[in-house]
Amino acid sequence: MWRAPGKRAPAKRGIVRSNEELIELARQAREFAHAPYSKFPVGAVVECRDGRIFTGCNVENSSFGLTICAERVALTKAVSEGARDFIKLAVIADAHAPVPPCGACRQVISELCAPETEIVMANLHGQAESRKVSELLPAAFDQSFL
Ligand SMILES: [Zn+2]
Repeated sequence: MWRAPGKRAPAKRGIVRSNEELIELARQAREFAHAPYSKFPVGAVVECRDGRIFTGCNVENSSFGLTICAERVALTKAVSEGARDFIKLAVIADAHAPVPPCGACRQVISELCAPETEIVMANLHGQAESRKVSELLPAAFDQSFL
């Protein structure tokens, strides 16, 4: 199987990293954020059932509408490398409470993750909480409407 240089071999199926480990990976990804306008760097990581992980950070643009959030970066990186079976997604920012995905990200998460996929929300103050995708975006618009 072809793998991009530097990529880790897939871990055994069924490995689930702890929320703390995922939060740390998201915190590290946050360091790469390009957030000169909002000054609100965000990091995210998505874990696949096969053990692969994909990180993301927000990438802002002076044309604000082109900005992409950390969660969507992580998910699009994963999809672009053939990963689909996501089991957890973690997101972190320096916020007063565990940072939730924005509405746009909730829609994208709902498109790509199963309703029971765990979304771990955290902040830099050690607070974290989890919700299922179906709890973050109930009554989602999905392919059944097309
Ligand atoms: Zn977002």
